[in-house]
Amino acid sequence: MQSFDLIVIGTGSAGKTVAQTVREAGKTVAIIDKLPFGGTCSQRGCDPKKVLVGAAEIVARSEQMLDKGISAVPAIDWPALMAFKKTFTDPIPENTEKKFVDLGIQSFHGTATFLSANTLRVGDDELTAKQIVIAAGAKPQPLNIPGEALLIDSTQFLELPELPREIVMVGGGYIAFEFAHIAARAGANVTIVHRGKRPLEGFDADLVNLLVKGVEAIGIRIVLEANVTRVEGEPGDLTVHYDRQGTCESVAAGLVVHAAGRVADVAELALEKAGVEVGEKGVKVNAHLQSVSNPAVYACGDVADKGLPLTPMASYEGRLVAENILNSNRQTFDSDPVPTTVFTVPPMASIGLTEEQARKQGRKVKVLFQETKDWYSNRRINEPVAGFKTIVDEESGQLLGAHLLGAGSDEVINLFALAMKHQIPAKALGDMLFAYPTHGSDLSYMLPD
Ligand code: NDP
Repeated sequence: MQSFDLIVIGTGSAGKTVAQTVREAGKTVAIIDKLPFGGTCSQRGCDPKKVLVGAAEIVARSEQMLDKGISAVPAIDWPALMAFKKTFTDPIPENTEKKFVDLGIQSFHGTATFLSANTLRVGDDELTAKQIVIAAGAKPQPLNIPGEALLIDSTQFLELPELPREIVMVGGGYIAFEFAHIAARAGANVTIVHRGKRPLEGFDADLVNLLVKGVEAIGIRIVLEANVTRVEGEPGDLTVHYDRQGTCESVAAGLVVHAAGRVADVAELALEKAGVEVGEKGVKVNAHLQSVSNPAVYACGDVADKGLPLTPMASYEGRLVAENILNSNRQTFDSDPVPTTVFTVPPMASIGLTEEQARKQGRKVKVLFQETKDWYSNRRINEPVAGFKTIVDEESGQLLGAHLLGAGSDEVINLFALAMKHQIPAKALGDMLFAYPTHGSDLSYMLPD
């Protein structure tokens, strides 16, 4: 039995933040991962995805400017793009492990399984620690339909050596919309099959409507209120069957992608042996991000049931857990509003309350919603899809939410985040002098009087 002050399960944004911070404070630390070290965001998620989005943006931008000074639309060379992507992802495991070695963190490769409240096994090794942090991330949620094994997940999509011509996305959230844009700009015909009444349900409904029009204009088909019942065929020649208001329909595809949500990746951990409770949203934690049922265990990142499953939140939670381990639970989870972006082309970004949420809370709000494709900053690039909605508290004048669609919104949302964190009143934000002409300088026109 090897003994440590701390064992961390998971080497992604949350896990490595805890491990490194606690080790730097002089504690002995072990870290475990069943996958190549470095986690989802940098190897199988945000970072490689955005490399592909970069190429999709060039195609989209050229199409928009065709006959307006641009004479041809470039084509995406998928294998070459994947090779470029690999220059980002390939070095991650070695670099991550080297950093652990340099810091004196002991690495273990394999699946961790709890044996008791504070011991676990990885392969032939048995480890024990005063504290254990679960930062094991998430995995695609089971669909429980016949032919489920024929779907690929987001990890496999980001490694495709070639892109089939016909692609179906099952689900209508972040992954479906981002991958649909990448694939469509690379020449594929894409169908999104979504079971809800509207896609991207967490985002502002008016902006989603504008986005959907733009999505359909580039040939992506969106099928709503469609419950996928089975997938059949063989890889490369598949049929997706779905039930739509009592009618059975189907669509053929060379590739079917799981984009139907993710769940905490805890199945192999044997958490019952450690007395760690798990709910629908993941490991149940208190305000210190400590397991509600085993005080020796903390959880952070996508695996924990607090906070949104987003990378900046995972890093924040990792810092908080490290602080609590080192300083006896002095910190409580109290996150500022987190900006989030769906990297469609153009992107849609959001922070704070939606109009729906603000009204449900019974707040008196001023709301400004406008389509902005005719604003100079969008006309300059012939951007066909753009708009915004801001929500300001009538009494305090504080921003409650900002929702942006269009080129640059993934950056401009950060200005709103800054204003909301530091409680800059909407009026003061509107009076700021920003560099002109930029998407940021549009912000002055986005705030209600
Ligand atoms: P999302 O939660 O964004 O969307 C999943 C969608 O699939 C929902 O609309 C859901 O509908 C639908 N769905 C669920 N089950 C089924 C089913 N059986 N059949 C058809 N549709 C179904 O999940 P994603 O998979 O797109 O992404 C997973 C997570 O990864 C996200 O929550 C996000 O946190 C993260 N992510 C973040 C990104 C970013 O920040 N840019 C990019 C990609 C992922 P319903 O509402 O009815 O359940």
